[in-house]
Amino acid sequence: MAAGVGALLWGLVGGCAPPPPLSSSVEMATLPPCVQDDCNCGDFRTQVLAQQVLSAFSDDPFVLDRDGNGQACESLPATAPDPDPPAPSVESAHLMLGNPSNAASRNPNNYLLVSQQYVLAYNSDRGTANWASWQLSRDSLGTAERQDDFRQNGDLPAGIYQVTPNDYRDSGFDRGHIVPSGDRTASVQDNSATFLMTNMVPQAPENNRGLWRELEEYSRDQVVRGDQTLLIVAGAYGDQGTLAGGRVMVPSRLWKVIVVLAPEQGIEDIDADTPVIALDVPNRDVASGDWRRYQTTVDQIEVATGYDLLSAVAPEIQAVIEAE
Ligand code: MN
Ligand code: MN
Repeated sequence: MAAGVGALLWGLVGGCAPPPPLSSSVEMATLPPCVQDDCNCGDFRTQVLAQQVLSAFSDDPFVLDRDGNGQACESLPATAPDPDPPAPSVESAHLMLGNPSNAASRNPNNYLLVSQQYVLAYNSDRGTANWASWQLSRDSLGTAERQDDFRQNGDLPAGIYQVTPNDYRDSGFDRGHIVPSGDRTASVQDNSATFLMTNMVPQAPENNRGLWRELEEYSRDQVVRGDQTLLIVAGAYGDQGTLAGGRVMVPSRLWKVIVVLAPEQGIEDIDADTPVIALDVPNRDVASGDWRRYQTTVDQIEVATGYDLLSAVAPEIQAVIEAE
């Protein structure tokens, strides 16, 4: 009974509540970022991961075991599909941090799309990208206006459904850019490339226009005023229903990892002191508009997504900067 009341209060205060206490023997790095605000069954790739979270806390603070049988989120698949084998390497400044899911042109749910403006891994079953990766520097920023030419992506191979702008209509979710329009203003063509539907996820409106936008503006400010170059990887995972008759899955979580470099620096300059910002936020109209509230570690995003982020960085340096 006490646990039920706790969960109710938790729901009322939303993302502002402090995380529940962790059982002493569990390492935070082994748990997904949702444990820092509120986990739902849709946030987990596998039942095994949900079970790990259930065992990490006493009294089931996230109500993952509704029927009280000791099993969390029984409807999830037990394990994740095997990861794709290493992909052929691709020459792109936007893939400097590596290819987090070994995306290539062989798996429609991990399909690599390379353009001059950014690189992404498309997921045909989800109708959205798994992740996108791009470099943000002064060269990316110019005077091109926002094109607003949302459109389907004709570069997808035959057999993959091309999501259209209308697929999001009346859904209650925004067409949320992964690579922001404001990050690609050097030319009309660059800006227009961000309006392909393959770069969109259904995003809760207040999230898109509030916290997420503030992080995007903060990032551009670091480039313009802070004279920095950013290497960014961002994506979405989890399940909170579908749009367009099942063609587009609404992710339950959005994440972003930003590696901060000086303009003349490259991947080989990343060391244990290189600043990294990692964020993982519920795809809801969250109570707190402050993105800093949702900072986490790269390690925890890797647990949630199954990706190897920053894989182009030496393992001993990844071990440090992914944990901070
Ligand atoms: Mn947006
Ligand atoms: Mn990694």
